[in-house]
Amino acid sequence: MVLNYGLAIVGGGPAGIAAAIHASRLGLTTALVEKNELGGQANIAPWIENYPGFPDGIRGRDLISNFKDQLARWKVKVISAEAVSLNLDENVFVLKTSAGNILALNIIVATGMSPKTIGIKNEIPYADPAKTPHDGKDVLIAGGGDCAFDLAAEFALNAKSVTISMRGEKISAIHRVAERAKKRGVRIIKNSDPTKIPYDILISCIGKNSEVPFVQNIIKNFAGLTISPGEAKAPKGLFFAGDICRGRLRHIAIAAGDGIAAAQSAYERLKKDENNK
Ligand SMILES: Cc1cc2nc3c(=O)[nH]c(=O)nc-3n(C[C@H](O)[C@H](O)[C@H](O)COP(=O)(O)OP(=O)(O)OC[C@H]3O[C@@H](n4cnc5c(N)ncnc54)[C@H](O)[C@@H]3O)c2cc1C
Repeated sequence: MVLNYGLAIVGGGPAGIAAAIHASRLGLTTALVEKNELGGQANIAPWIENYPGFPDGIRGRDLISNFKDQLARWKVKVISAEAVSLNLDENVFVLKTSAGNILALNIIVATGMSPKTIGIKNEIPYADPAKTPHDGKDVLIAGGGDCAFDLAAEFALNAKSVTISMRGEKISAIHRVAERAKKRGVRIIKNSDPTKIPYDILISCIGKNSEVPFVQNIIKNFAGLTISPGEAKAPKGLFFAGDICRGRLRHIAIAAGDGIAAAQSAYERLKKDENNK
């Protein structure tokens, strides 16, 4: 399959969906490649209080349902596939995916982060409460940050018990999120080893890696290419957006804003090329 697009976006989380809507609105022929479920990590966010427009907060799944409804109104080709490599042939990007090659003039990489794992059999990294049956179960969560406490509070609504096992002493989740978990009866064991605590379900929330294996070829060929928000210095037309390039600034509104900014820059780049012809 060979397709031609002004813009191909890899990753259908908040950054990728926002980029796709904005690009399509600008008139760019746009493809959005997602290997799993559209919405990315935001699908499992139990309760979002910092995305503007929802004064009482909103469940991640409901917010993403709105994102998807909005995406469906635009002429974006959503391709259910995994991006496996990226190359540049003259000025055209060749994106190899599990569903075939895609040719595009611009690429936005919005692939988020992949979870780190402890390496224990049966652990589920960043488990989706809606897809992890836990009624009457003893749930153990390893981690001490926002995600660990956020998921603990959600699992505590139906689990028999929820325990957080922290490697160190200091809770790094924000106060409000940690308090919500505590109010729902979540037990916290500091300075502990999760392998020593009994559980029915073990969930790891111990951080994320920002690896983008499918762009390794490009990284090798373009010395100095850094994974930072916006357009790469070289090759031109390659953009990064969202968690993949944001370090600790991992939030839905930032990811969506990055996606829109990258789509706008891709559009302006094509316009400039057209004007120079
Ligand atoms: C439990 C939890 C709670 C959270 N709560 C909040 C909150 O309250 N407020 C807030 O602002 N943020 C919250 N976040 C963070 C927020 O979800 C992320 O910052 C946001 O989803 C990042 O969007 P993104 O599009 O950059 O990446 P992601 O959401 O990670 O999406 C990336 C997408 O790329 C796809 N992908 C990856 N590699 C490939 C490939 N090779 N080919 C094709 N597709 C690929 C993935 O499948 C994924 O769908 C929470 C996160 C978690 C885990």
